[in-house]
Amino acid sequence: MEQYLISVFSGLSGTEIISYGLIIFSAFIFVLLERFIPYNKGQKLFRDGFFDDLAFYTIAQNYILSIIIFSVIFRVFQGSGNGASESLLDGVPIWIQLLFFTVSHDFYIYWMHRWQHKNRYLWRIHEAHHSPSKVDWLSGSRSHALEILINQTIEFAPIVLLSGSVEVIAYKGVISAVWGMFIHSNIDVNSGKLRFFINGPEMHRWHHSMGKGRNNNFSTKFAIWDWMFGTAFLPDTMKADIYGLKTYFPKNYFSQTIFAFRKFKPFRKNPEKAGIA
Ligand SMILES: [Zn+2]
Ligand SMILES: [Zn+2]
Repeated sequence: MEQYLISVFSGLSGTEIISYGLIIFSAFIFVLLERFIPYNKGQKLFRDGFFDDLAFYTIAQNYILSIIIFSVIFRVFQGSGNGASESLLDGVPIWIQLLFFTVSHDFYIYWMHRWQHKNRYLWRIHEAHHSPSKVDWLSGSRSHALEILINQTIEFAPIVLLSGSVEVIAYKGVISAVWGMFIHSNIDVNSGKLRFFINGPEMHRWHHSMGKGRNNNFSTKFAIWDWMFGTAFLPDTMKADIYGLKTYFPKNYFSQTIFAFRKFKPFRKNPEKAGIA
């Protein structure tokens, strides 16, 4: 396992430049498309919270969490590893590994996400993600550190435990980052029949709206989960336009992170009043 983790880091350094390059290039394309075909007109690039979302959530938090996940959490597994050099996935093409881990993790995240909207403790680590009042290519990065820690540990643990290809970790990271930017981007996308399979801004922006749609569209990458499990919401003639939380939420990264640990009000049965929805 030790050797495997070392190879994860050295392997990543080889594909690192390509990975970051793809992410930055995609961000650039999304920013351009937001200018030319906006979903909501008049949204500014440098909107409220832009700096915190970019510097703290996207760069600093992701960097620190990736070190915690790969150098601390996965290192714990090394003691229990049997040191086998062969992997179940030996000989399995990278694209099949990538497809398998992407679909299986997306299925998990759909149910986890639904649970986060129902459970008041889990909502505490998800509300940051719903706090931006302007939804764009960058705003999706606003997720509480604990939420990312849990979801990314679960995302990468099967790949590491099964000694999947190192490239799978790097490419999966790129896919998640680019798809995450895409579904939040302020781009007027009409994907036709593809919308039943591939998730995009036309559905996910409704999930960030204050009104109807908020407790729908839980999918991240594949919209098919919402259509299969009855949580899809996509009106033909309307567009989502008011986003964010109905309740108070602090403005900067550090206060937002600490805010998740505030005291609970006496429990109310109505989740709307308990500040969940
Ligand atoms: Zn949500
Ligand atoms: Zn989102």
